Amino acid sequence: MNRINGDSFWSGILAAYSEIALKSDRVRVKFVSKLKSNIIEAFKSRGLHTRVRHRWSRILIDCNNDIDLSCRIASRIFGLKYIAPYRYVDLEELESFMKTYSPRLLKGVESFAIRVRRTGTHSFTSKDLERRVGSIVKASSNLRVDLDNPDRTIYIEVHDNECYIYTNRIEAPGGLPLGTSSRVVSLVSGGIDSPVATWLIMKRGCPVTMLFAHSPVGGDESDLKRFLAVARILREWHIGEEIRAYSYIHSKALKEICKVADSYTCVLCRRMMYRVACRVAEIEGAKAIVTGENLAQVASQTLDNLYVVDEASNLPVLRPLIGLEKEDSVNIARMIGTYEASITAVSSGCRSIKGCWARPRKPTTRAILDRVREMESMIDVDKLVDEAISSLKDLSNLL
Ligand code: ATP
Ligand code: MG
Repeated sequence: MNRINGDSFWSGILAAYSEIALKSDRVRVKFVSKLKSNIIEAFKSRGLHTRVRHRWSRILIDCNNDIDLSCRIASRIFGLKYIAPYRYVDLEELESFMKTYSPRLLKGVESFAIRVRRTGTHSFTSKDLERRVGSIVKASSNLRVDLDNPDRTIYIEVHDNECYIYTNRIEAPGGLPLGTSSRVVSLVSGGIDSPVATWLIMKRGCPVTMLFAHSPVGGDESDLKRFLAVARILREWHIGEEIRAYSYIHSKALKEICKVADSYTCVLCRRMMYRVACRVAEIEGAKAIVTGENLAQVASQTLDNLYVVDEASNLPVLRPLIGLEKEDSVNIARMIGTYEASITAVSSGCRSIKGCWARPRKPTTRAILDRVREMESMIDVDKLVDEAISSLKDLSNLL
């Protein structure tokens, strides 16, 4: 972070939004309003009061004197593309400000560029101002101008008579403000993929209810602990809406499935999870189910199998990872902070070190719906779903 004269140098944080800019006027007003209230909520949850303004296509956030903390908070808000600590000056003061402060803004670098973005009516163009400020900065700092590959860029956003100056753009997650889409139920195992899928759907504006299929086999509950650890990290991103989490007992149904399904065990298992998730969605008013499934990444996730498991859900099944490579998921997991928790070894449940205890030696990759129906007719699916629902445990207050 570029610190000058301590935090008080900065006037606040300028934030740019991403996709919201492409929306119609009516929708944009709604989304910006939700974005602002999510930002205020994020600061409030850290015990900080802040003021947020929408000016032309920027959001301006007061920064509470602790610019680093403020940036950390703001950089987690869905809907923001980047944030930057800015210094405000009136247009008449811009040149004298640059004479005085540009050597400090450019401390430690050898080359620079000036980039101007301008709105309002002026007698000069953005390019004119870039040249003018560039020559002042060059004279006062003795540094080289490099427009192609500068060590540092000084951005100046001019809006009528107002100038917002910044050098450090910090990436934010982008996407749409949380809460601008409907709630979803996300099946979260605690492994690498489903937390990433959950984060990606949050990024599309959906508040999330997480559902963990708990198989307390093996005793130490380390699978449940891993789920909770991951869920707590996701909560840090889930700003402006209530995040919820449930577990249910899955092992009873799984034992029944094992008796009839053999190589179809994984398919029937997943169908059971979807059914429970749909019932939870009813309770929660959610409109879709989310999973961390991919296409052809593991043997069970073939298109034939996905077709058959989808049939058990009366809601759309969203799979945000469908087009990603494993490496992409791992990179996102690292970036959002769930990776370390996800790779901790668990010794209980169906995600144990030895792998799922119910997993057949050779799981089918080409499930056929009629075969599935035949197998399911041998167990009491409705009763198993009812029992799963009565075992639901609300874990939201543990997050
Ligand atoms: P993950 O990394 O999320 O565990 P995976 O790549 O290991 O996924 P599978 O084990 O086949 O793949 O699971 C596919 C999806 O099913 C998961 O991404 C998750 O959405 C859901 N799922 C699997 N196990 C559980 C569980 N115990 N509780 C809730 N959802 C689960
Ligand atoms: Mg897994």
